[in-house]
Amino acid sequence: MRETVHVPLPGRAYDVRIGPGLIDRAGAEITPLLARPKVAVITDDTVGTLHLGALEAGLKQAGVSMTALSLPPGEATKSWPHLMRCVDWLLDQKVERGDLVLAFGGGVIGDLVGFASAILRRGVRFVQVPTTLLAQVDSSVGGKTGINASQGKNLIGAFHQPVLVLADSDVLGTLTPRDFLAGYGEVVKYGLLGDADFFEWLEINGPALEQGDEVARVEAIRRSVQMKADIVVRDETEQGDRALLNLGHTFGHALEAATGYSDRLLHGEGVAIGCALAFELSARLGLCSQEDPSRVRTHLKAMGMKTDLHDISGSLPDASALLDLMGQDKKVVQGKLRFILARGIGEAFLTSEVPRDAVLGVLQDALRE
Ligand code: NAD
Repeated sequence: MRETVHVPLPGRAYDVRIGPGLIDRAGAEITPLLARPKVAVITDDTVGTLHLGALEAGLKQAGVSMTALSLPPGEATKSWPHLMRCVDWLLDQKVERGDLVLAFGGGVIGDLVGFASAILRRGVRFVQVPTTLLAQVDSSVGGKTGINASQGKNLIGAFHQPVLVLADSDVLGTLTPRDFLAGYGEVVKYGLLGDADFFEWLEINGPALEQGDEVARVEAIRRSVQMKADIVVRDETEQGDRALLNLGHTFGHALEAATGYSDRLLHGEGVAIGCALAFELSARLGLCSQEDPSRVRTHLKAMGMKTDLHDISGSLPDASALLDLMGQDKKVVQGKLRFILARGIGEAFLTSEVPRDAVLGVLQDALRE
């Protein structure tokens, strides 16, 4: 049941291995890349407690030893103080240019450790061992690394591709249902942005996937990663097509900012709600049929996901304040908001020609409903 997606970036090509049991055979997987049989692993306390023993055993089987640093879980760890801690620790471990650093955790650890690897000795190689669904289908592939600033999310970082990604579907079994579903938000996004057949497949197989069907999980991860790989190879540094991966993110980031990047709204939850709003906006602008946004919402609801603004606990700012928050998004170019809209399911495109009033109207109605 193991699958491999190749990311054929010239000079920086790598494989994404997907399937059960990959942590148990981590040593065998990475040995061909090692200059010496020793790796430095950075994880978070939750993942470390649950799975670091298995990783250590899997490395040991191939004679690879490891040292590990564990950081507090949560978005706040993607910050200067923890970046400093990582870099200091890696230097203390005498990690050399030929060595490998392993990022063992969700998107927070992947982004942070990837960035630490990018700047350590002007770049050491690193392996992503993603442990959340979100990280397996999205953040571990494509080489975007970084930390948050007080001015906004992901504002400090670098492009630094991993040399290998090991997405072990077994580790998803310990995720909370909420974290699993947040990752599913990114999976749905792939169907919505570029593959109507995949969206239809998810409508049928989503519930089994959520219940733990491993074949369905591996297939969903493989298709998502393949789509991300194709886009990244076309446009590594987001000059064009890669922006499509931000479907749902302009709305989503504003909602994350409005909820203080807190537990009220996880990133993937914001993306799911954002996708529903992006389709609503597309329908109102006459770009797609009226049925499309309701089909999106029906699937998200059937999966038990946050779908509407009133699914977010507590109060939200008014529509114009939300619109202002969108203006702080990284995707603003020359002061113009850029949106990913859709001509139908699987047919997303980038535009900066969106009337402010139309966005305001969608938000006002969504807040009222
Ligand atoms: P996360 O890393 O915070 O993980 C979510 C929670 O799950 C954490 O509490 C973590 O400790 C726990 N966890 C991780 N694996 C587990 C497991 N197997 N079992 C039990 N618990 C586990 O969050 P995330 O959702 O993985 O990632 C979100 C981050 O990813 C955000 O910072 C976002 O900006 C970033 N991101 C980056 C990219 C990119 O291209 N680089 C793309 C999308 C998202």
